[in-house]
Amino acid sequence: MAGGLLGIEALERAEIEAILDRARDFQPLQNEGFKRLDLLRGRMVVNLFFEASTRTRTSFEIAAKRLGADAISITAAASSVSKGESLVDTLNTLSAMRPDAIIMRHSASGAPHFLARHLAIPIVNAGDGTHEHPTQALLDARTILDRRPSLEALRVAIIGDIAHSRVARSNIFLLSKFGAQVVLCGPAPLLPPEFARIAPGVSLTTSLREAIRDADVIMMLRVQLERQHEAAFPAGEYFQFYGLGPEHIALAKPDAIVMHPGPINRGREISSEVADSQRSVILNQVENGVAVRMAVLERVLSN
Ligand code: ASP
Repeated sequence: MAGGLLGIEALERAEIEAILDRARDFQPLQNEGFKRLDLLRGRMVVNLFFEASTRTRTSFEIAAKRLGADAISITAAASSVSKGESLVDTLNTLSAMRPDAIIMRHSASGAPHFLARHLAIPIVNAGDGTHEHPTQALLDARTILDRRPSLEALRVAIIGDIAHSRVARSNIFLLSKFGAQVVLCGPAPLLPPEFARIAPGVSLTTSLREAIRDADVIMMLRVQLERQHEAAFPAGEYFQFYGLGPEHIALAKPDAIVMHPGPINRGREISSEVADSQRSVILNQVENGVAVRMAVLERVLSN
């Protein structure tokens, strides 16, 4: 992974397994205070975020610092991009300062791939438009595997705005590579039929109950209003049909877990009762985000 991490789709199973295994080594560190390792001492990573983010940016920053690296965060509003500088010029300027890696979030699908072709510095995709969010899928897999021996044959229901979700796409690619059954669910305008062919083991339904029945994992998604030109579904009705409430949980496997990449909208796609319940692993996902990003940064920078 010397060239960075742009997506899950192109990764081999072995690479994914190596990251997930290594992330496990970093997990206990979270409970032992803010211990700083020396593994990436003297290295520098730049967080370049052209889209809003709280958890992902902070998580990458903490991960880099725990490995002993220096981390600098730049947000779009504070960068010269707001003065009209092109993306390539911004990146060329940054790369002249010789960071060891650039972690990038952008609203355009493919933006990090484009830059990776222009720059010699490894780029880690922290979310590109509606395309991929690879570290989210990795931390989701780590969170599931903390509770299940394998991903194989698990039934994972991904519910919500599938059309605009890079989290859904990265998770579909990862889960499918490991033989999970992925059921995608949402209102028809947010559930493009071509997703059925995106990877093996994927099926579609517009029925929330059908998706949840016998699920091992229920993954809820936010409606990405910022990516919709017109609201595809009246806001008030959304929760009634696609909001996850305690009454749905009984349909799933008895030990099913509820996930959400955040930010959660209580009362819109998930009820507070479920989000705060024993079934919810939402905060475990956040916690695993640091461990997984440590594993990714170590791999990307190990040369
Ligand atoms: N935080 C995730 C993302 O950046 C999910 C979301 O925004 O709804 O894609």
